[in-house]
Amino acid sequence: MSRFDFENLHECGIINHLDLKCVNCGKSGMSIFYEASGIPVQSAYLMPTREKALKSALGKIALGICRSCGLIYNTEYNHSANPHFQKKEKTDAFSFAYNSFIQELAEIFITKYSLFNKKISALGAKSDDFLSALCEMGGNTGQIVEQLDLKEFNKDTDCVVSAMTLGNIYNGADLLSTLRSCLSERTNTILFYIVRDVERILTELAYWEISHEDCTYFSLGSLARLFRKSGFDIIEIKKYKGQFITLAAKPSMTKTASNTNDDMGDLLGKVKYFAENHLQKLLIWKQRIADFRRSGYRVVLWKAGAKSAAFLNLLDMEDGIKYVVDINTHLHGAYIPGTGHKIISPAHLREYRPDAIIALNPLFNTEVSNEIKRLGLTAELLTF
Ligand SMILES: [Zn+2]
Repeated sequence: MSRFDFENLHECGIINHLDLKCVNCGKSGMSIFYEASGIPVQSAYLMPTREKALKSALGKIALGICRSCGLIYNTEYNHSANPHFQKKEKTDAFSFAYNSFIQELAEIFITKYSLFNKKISALGAKSDDFLSALCEMGGNTGQIVEQLDLKEFNKDTDCVVSAMTLGNIYNGADLLSTLRSCLSERTNTILFYIVRDVERILTELAYWEISHEDCTYFSLGSLARLFRKSGFDIIEIKKYKGQFITLAAKPSMTKTASNTNDDMGDLLGKVKYFAENHLQKLLIWKQRIADFRRSGYRVVLWKAGAKSAAFLNLLDMEDGIKYVVDINTHLHGAYIPGTGHKIISPAHLREYRPDAIIALNPLFNTEVSNEIKRLGLTAELLTF
């Protein structure tokens, strides 16, 4: 692993905790580079009333990077507030963009690894849309695994998939070691993971992508190191659609100590950039919303979930943005934890006539743009 100078991090306000042990590699030394407080501990769980939303349990974020393995995680993560595998927060199946994303990913995976008529184990309920696509498109059968258990795990499984669940796991090393034990001699089992790419969050200063319960963040290097350390050989690891990382792996029969995917120096540079500049981005947004308010502009945020909860709670300007809009009918009438913003349907916008719509996730930009046209709105679309 290359050498890099952590001591320079002091210059940009990063706090080094030399005695804090990494949850992944167990080595001492974490550098905390992003802190936030008053953040809902379950930001993706919407509340039935505004009163309950305003009384949501709050927690801290203290995002640190391990000086040895490069894992980035929330060192203030509240274990008791969050289950081992997150429950499925809501379905995105209403979204054409989301469905296309899942189906495209499933098609790539099925084709590349000839995944037809196989038995699949999907880790965490958040993986169920991906599992459904794999079963439908490849004639596979599968089950959701809510809790890894050596006795209960289906030893005949041909494939293990995890779609966006690893970031919710505080101790991924423990989980993957347990999985490796579950698979035992089944070295032909294929693992397929998709996680968010922390390098994009850092370089785009996307502070709203950091929530309390999304406790772990991966780069190509730190994800590869985690899997190798846990007893897996990596078949392929790469960036996907500008904001994700996909990884295919299989159980290893030997202890590997490969030093490929060494991105520590580069990752540190991005951490420093984020630490130095993210506050400026938040202030720009505060100023922008204040200007909108002075001008009497009506502003709404598109899509409910952890990103919008983080964005609104950190903005802390309740009257600057009136509503959160979502196409998922199950969410209408619910409230964002912490700030209490109400979630409304796109149809409601015909009546409210917003001047600006903020869309946090580039994946949905086209969909939002089409909705604006369909509803006959003249609102300006603000994207990232
Ligand atoms: Zn570490």
